[in-house]
Amino acid sequence: MTPDPALQDRLAERFLRYSAISSQSDAAVQTVPTTPGQRELADLLARELRELGAQEVHLSDTSVLTARIPARLPQGHAPVPAVGFCVHLDTVDVNLSPDVRARVVGFDGSEICLNPELDLWLRPSEHPELVPYAGDRLLVTDGTSVLGADDKAGIASVMEAASTLLSDPHAVHGEVHLAFVPDEEIGLRGVRTMDLTRFPVAHAWTLDCCAIGEAVWQTFNAAEATICIQGVTAHPMSAKGVLVNPVLVAHDIVAQLDRGQTPEHTDGTEGYIWVTDVAANPATATLELNIRDHNLQRFEEHKQTLTAAVEQARTMHPRAVVELQINDVYGNIQDALHDENRQAVDLLLEAMEALGIEPRPLAMRGGTDGSWLSRQGILTPNFFTGAHNFHSIHEFLPLRSFEASHLVVLELVRRTALAADRQSRS
Ligand SMILES: [Zn+2]
Repeated sequence: MTPDPALQDRLAERFLRYSAISSQSDAAVQTVPTTPGQRELADLLARELRELGAQEVHLSDTSVLTARIPARLPQGHAPVPAVGFCVHLDTVDVNLSPDVRARVVGFDGSEICLNPELDLWLRPSEHPELVPYAGDRLLVTDGTSVLGADDKAGIASVMEAASTLLSDPHAVHGEVHLAFVPDEEIGLRGVRTMDLTRFPVAHAWTLDCCAIGEAVWQTFNAAEATICIQGVTAHPMSAKGVLVNPVLVAHDIVAQLDRGQTPEHTDGTEGYIWVTDVAANPATATLELNIRDHNLQRFEEHKQTLTAAVEQARTMHPRAVVELQINDVYGNIQDALHDENRQAVDLLLEAMEALGIEPRPLAMRGGTDGSWLSRQGILTPNFFTGAHNFHSIHEFLPLRSFEASHLVVLELVRRTALAADRQSRS
């Protein structure tokens, strides 16, 4: 892959335009989208897609933006299945500024000053993942926010691909559908509101992970649990044998969980139960927990463990009222993968190899919009945006990797048509 500085410039220019619109999602808000910036970004993308000549550009009440790029096939070409790309409009809220002031810097291998006033730096000594990019140009933050390449690099890659596909008379491709969804970072809320009849594809891809080569079709199975405990209040002068302290009931539940099966003690494909929030007063206590595992059977076992812990607490505190609710949030993409739909994975690996990118399959300790779409029958693996250090002020995106991510989009579209043609001849 010979770098194309002009293409890198166009991608960077798109990225800076999209990242200038603040679009953090907000878990505390119940509507979708949770923030107006996501709508503003969707409006801008819809306008740009219409100007490029995309068809059926549609923005839903929940700011899910969908569009269709018509097929361009020579007469007599075998029918090509429609494929899709899905990216998310929101950036993560990790208590940093919602406003992103990204810029491109040349990186010669030495320390990068992100912000002279605040004395914030990106140093190869602290971030060895920088080292291979000496001599490249990087998109970086001003140290007060994330870069938001998660997922605006994905948006820019897909928009640039739309521009190419809609204007290049020599491109040969089937129908391509695009989806831009809000509120991914807060439990895939946006994609759940998507009208899938507006995304009629055989399979799709998300661009929503990190370094060049990353390919993901293994994600967590995820559930959220809430435990509500009602105790019995009493004045200390008459508390003996009467008072039931919900704080201690909560403690007894947490104490039964395996302290080795927590996020801080697991990695790879090991699952966990994570107590994420405790709220308590003398009358009630509430626990919030995340349950995660790549393996479906172990995932169900974690749920049983929690159910048993609650049952045990009820036995220990018969006068407390303890309620447990477990809701599934998303599933492992791999569980939806079978022989008939594995073309989405095969094409992804082929496309990377054709571009000279070494695929790095990864069991992602998280989920993507594809985890939801795959459960709905649209197998949707995920691949790299090219950025490092998602969700951090040290997030950076080498333009060379950004270009590679964008080229994978075009290569996937091209190879889908090629594969259909090959199949029709065999
Ligand atoms: Zn993301």
